[in-house]
Amino acid sequence: MAKQLSCRDMSVDCPWFGVAETVDELLKGAAEHSAAVHDAKDIPHEMMESMRRAVKEA
Ligand SMILES: [Zn+2]
Repeated sequence: MAKQLSCRDMSVDCPWFGVAETVDELLKGAAEHSAAVHDAKDIPHEMMESMRRAVKEA
């Protein structure tokens, strides 16, 4: 079962979504996207936890 997370899941108006085999891999991709596109280089721990909770089965 793949994992999926999108910016819209995080109430960010952005068409990006990521799919990965594991949550950790997915969050890594989301962090890279956030750094590149949303200028969020240091994502706070609480934000990472809400992202982790927003992950869906794809
Ligand atoms: Zn985005």
